[in-house]
Amino acid sequence: MPISQDFNSRLSPRLDDIISHFGTPFHIYDEIGIRETGRQLNQAFAQLKGFREYFAVKALPNPAILRIMQDLGFGFDCSSITELIQSREIGARPEDIMFTSNNTSPADFKEAFGNGGCIMNLDDVTLIDKMPSMPELICFRYNPGPSVEGNDIIGNPVEAKYGISHDQVVDAYRKARDLGARRFGLHTMIVSNELNYKYKVKTTRMLLEIVEMVQAELDIRFDFINFGGGLGIPYLPDTAPLDLAALAVEITALFANFEKRNGYAPDMLMESGRYMTGPHGVLVVTAINHKDIYRKYIGVDACMTALMRPAMYGAYHHITVHGKPTDIASATEVVDVVGSLCENNDKFAIQRELPAIVDGDVLLIHDTGAHGQAMGFNYNGKLRPQELLLRPDGKVELIRRAETVQDYFATLNFSPDVWTS
Ligand SMILES: *Cc1c(COP(=O)(O)O)cnc(C)c1O
Repeated sequence: MPISQDFNSRLSPRLDDIISHFGTPFHIYDEIGIRETGRQLNQAFAQLKGFREYFAVKALPNPAILRIMQDLGFGFDCSSITELIQSREIGARPEDIMFTSNNTSPADFKEAFGNGGCIMNLDDVTLIDKMPSMPELICFRYNPGPSVEGNDIIGNPVEAKYGISHDQVVDAYRKARDLGARRFGLHTMIVSNELNYKYKVKTTRMLLEIVEMVQAELDIRFDFINFGGGLGIPYLPDTAPLDLAALAVEITALFANFEKRNGYAPDMLMESGRYMTGPHGVLVVTAINHKDIYRKYIGVDACMTALMRPAMYGAYHHITVHGKPTDIASATEVVDVVGSLCENNDKFAIQRELPAIVDGDVLLIHDTGAHGQAMGFNYNGKLRPQELLLRPDGKVELIRRAETVQDYFATLNFSPDVWTS
């Protein structure tokens, strides 16, 4: 949702001073908003025992943010060595970490199994023999294939590289059991940024059916199902938010029915990233150039290295101009808002109606709290901006400094190494 009234009322009065102190560009995140979303999620699922969110670290991998998640009682969904390290450094225990990797390497396994291990969520049956050992608790990622339609970001399950196929499910758990696994989980992730809660209800029903199918074949019980991330947020101003209450009510009912049939119910896990932090971040930039050719352009002091979603997915991110009217009726110009990268898709907005913008104006690019900074890169030698956290007491804390030229050249600083035959 474009910046909430609450976040705006906390940020706007302080923004000029924050900019004087830190300079632009920066992403700034709203701790109160993140905590409120976490509280709402926990409350919505309060009737479902064993409910737990494992925050998808890739959405906003910053220790200050992960500590907030930990405080909310959440675990961490990791898929890389660095995400595992970051989670462990703030004190996550083995049961607090779900490792949902794919195309997993020996180095990934080594890190995942180190430090007491974590919950292993295997992406393929062939990976069973590549793990250092069979853990007591094992999960598989399920790909339903042609029986389910995906959505835009994840795509059609048949074409998705993730998970084990339907035909492999029973054998995967049989093999894991025969090798010593005693506790089991089942995972899937079929949709991303989905606002229709019914998809997630359908996914949950599907997972519970698979659990019953495997139980009947193998006489095992499941500790949990995990329906992945993918809860959507409304990026467009007029889009309705996900109906969290309805989602929770229907899923809770599915678990109650499962319990009636089976005498127990697994725990219900999810690994949302976007839903937790997406709306609670904005990218604050300054207009530094404007040009008027075949189209009007506003050049700002950040580029797609700070926010790739528009270029990568054609995603809409709402933009407002600090101190100027936000309603569409006051928009007087149609502009492309662009960065400085030598790629023509380096645009934060295309043909957007905005109030007249002059050099020095401050623009807020909304909903950058998830998959924003985290997706950044260094193409064209561009550096990623700093990240700030607006604390509940009004203090603003630097939680990641801007990249420097020295950071960029750091990988060129190594001892000579030349191979000759
Ligand atoms: C990216 C990802 C998530 C988080 O997705 P969101 O859209 O941010 O909720 C969760 N689980 C897995 C396996 C992912 O790859």
